[in-house]
Amino acid sequence: MNDCIFCKIAGGTIPSDRVYEDEQVVVFKDIYPKAPVHLLMVPRQHIESLNELMPAHDGLMTHMLRSLPEVARRAGLTDGYRTIINTGRGGGQEVLHLHLHILGGGRLPGF
Ligand code: AMP
Ligand code: ZN
Repeated sequence: MNDCIFCKIAGGTIPSDRVYEDEQVVVFKDIYPKAPVHLLMVPRQHIESLNELMPAHDGLMTHMLRSLPEVARRAGLTDGYRTIINTGRGGGQEVLHLHLHILGGGRLPGF
């Protein structure tokens, strides 16, 4: 866990371009954006992926989802946004700390 890059970003020991934070989550700009706006929402708590979620995380997950409109508003995503959570190798997850991609700022390709 000490080697986790998103724990270090959440803890401030690795710099990031933060756009939002509260007691439970940090939101920062993806370093390799795949859309005009590409943000990552990470819980401060280290959870590897959706597969490691426990009932004790229910409040956190609800908080993450319910924070999205405010995060999107602050990022200027007035026309909508796309959210993605990659899980595991087959799902394209490269960083093993649960994170939610927030994409927008232009016309995204169809999915
Ligand atoms: P995933 O493939 O779902 O695990 O997504 C990991 C994301 O983290 C990728 O979109 C990377 O561009 C992004 N990323 C990796 N390192 C950093 C970093 N230091 N700061 C910001 N974003 C990062
Ligand atoms: Zn972590």
